[in-house]
Amino acid sequence: MIDLHSHTTASDGEKTPEELIDLALSKKLSAIAITDHDTISGLKSAFEYSKDKNIIFVPGVELEADVDKGQMHILGLFIDFENKELNNMLDKIKQGRINRNNLFLQEFNKMGFEITLEDLQKVSGGKIIGKPHFAKVFLQKNYIHTKSEIFDNYFNKPPLSLIKKTRYTPEVIIKLIKKSNGIAVLAHPQSLKLEDNELEEKIKELISFGLDGLECYHSNQTREQMQKYKALAKKFNLLVTKGSDYHGPITKPDVELAVGKNGNIVSDDEDEILKKLLNYKNISYVNDF
Ligand code: AMP
Ligand code: ZN
Ligand code: FE
Ligand code: FE
Repeated sequence: MIDLHSHTTASDGEKTPEELIDLALSKKLSAIAITDHDTISGLKSAFEYSKDKNIIFVPGVELEADVDKGQMHILGLFIDFENKELNNMLDKIKQGRINRNNLFLQEFNKMGFEITLEDLQKVSGGKIIGKPHFAKVFLQKNYIHTKSEIFDNYFNKPPLSLIKKTRYTPEVIIKLIKKSNGIAVLAHPQSLKLEDNELEEKIKELISFGLDGLECYHSNQTREQMQKYKALAKKFNLLVTKGSDYHGPITKPDVELAVGKNGNIVSDDEDEILKKLLNYKNISYVNDF
């Protein structure tokens, strides 16, 4: 089995990069990608840790593109995490996130919630702070009783919904991933919330920027969707990838590494998926793994 989409404590996951590799080893995975949101800070230690172990470690990242409808996440797999341009862009995104979080704090304080940057740093372990960390603090302070309440009642409504992170266009993100020697993959295509014909047009546009693959297998996708995306991948000669989007038992209790929700992403072509990725022309340094 393989898993090409997972999160660690470097962003909003619960396992450290080393713990995640250990989990992957315990499940006897042949390949594991770490794809933290907007950061590559967990990759070096995971890379070092996995070096002498019986697993292919795929350095990755998950970036959110600026789109009007739905959510577009793009995975960079096999990236050269020392690439300067990539690091520069991630620094800018990081600063934009810090600014956004400060605006969130101001708004929440105005509404009467006593929440501070220190509270957030405590739950995030000093790493990238995201909305899920705000949710954790709100839960701790009993301001909400379920995680989704903070999204439904605050983040997804004005004024908070009007405050955005620094986001780049799909074109900029895909080209940057390619420059970093990576493979650009459209993550969980269902989150674009597009009709079939719209999705096809969007994919054509992304291919013109250099898109390499589709995350056909993802925990949030139905079997029907997965089959549809596989047909699209075939039609446009795109790579197929598979990812659980594992975060950990607290954040996503129903998502198991490499297995997804009740096994919904397990497939019999996983070896073939990996083989095709490894053979893909853009990965010239793959023999180093
Ligand atoms: P951020 O990167 O800080 O903007 O936070 C976005 C993250 O919040 C997403 O990757 C999800 O993990 C989480 N999220 C977004 N919407 C919801 C929701 N409605 N319920 C629970 N978690 C959500
Ligand atoms: Zn996440
Ligand atoms: Fe995502
Ligand atoms: Fe993810």
